[in-house]
Amino acid sequence: HLSKRLHRVGEFVPEGSILADIGSDHAYLPAYLVLNKRIKSAIAGEVVEGPFQSAKNLVAELNLTSSIQVRKGDGLDVLNLADEVDAISICGMGGTLIKDILDRGYKNNRLSGNEVLLLQPNVGEKTLRTWLMDHSYIIIEEDIVRENEKTYEIIIAKKAEEIEILSEKELMFGPKLLNEPNDIFKNKWCHELKQLENISKQLEKSSQDVSKNQTEINKKIALIKEVIG
Ligand code: SAM
Repeated sequence: HLSKRLHRVGEFVPEGSILADIGSDHAYLPAYLVLNKRIKSAIAGEVVEGPFQSAKNLVAELNLTSSIQVRKGDGLDVLNLADEVDAISICGMGGTLIKDILDRGYKNNRLSGNEVLLLQPNVGEKTLRTWLMDHSYIIIEEDIVRENEKTYEIIIAKKAEEIEILSEKELMFGPKLLNEPNDIFKNKWCHELKQLENISKQLEKSSQDVSKNQTEINKKIALIKEVIG
């Protein structure tokens, strides 16, 4: 059984592709996609021994050793250009960690530029979108799903010829999510707005010099109000 979150990510994986799933934990996503014949083969990367063993065990139990290679290593270090992966998924981590993994991979020439990136940050979406923009990746699709009282954003990106500049608003809310705001999106930002308004009230009460923080928070509040109306 695959979580709703990973199931949704799987729907963005191009058919018949070779997938690298980084930070794969139990290798649930590649196992599911191979079993459903959605992908040709996969590489599951894990840096921590426990999850690495879990991935190896699951792949062995399901008799998938011929189509899923489990590799131990940090981020994209487990990949070589000769692997010719079509898609890389990095899910269930903070946006900053995903960004760091991509950045190291970029610098170490682990990215061919032909692969589609399937990213699912738990937090720090803006940091991740900013990295993508700065490295001339364009966001081709986005989604937002809710599971176990949590909201997860999914960002699909592809390398482009040129940098496509995103506005502050697009970086914060997501260019695609912004275009078609659904209820999950609205609820997420409604909740965020309430929290920021509380912080803002607290700051007003305190006597310390917090003007800079306050300005930042008020700017964010104004943006959210503009977006969710
Ligand atoms: N991707 C799965 C998912 O979305 O359900 C598992 C998410 S789990 C919370 C994060 C996994 O990423 C952990 O198993 C952790 O060991 C692994 N991880 C963290 N940093 C990593 C890195 N630099 N390289 C490879 N794996 C990493």
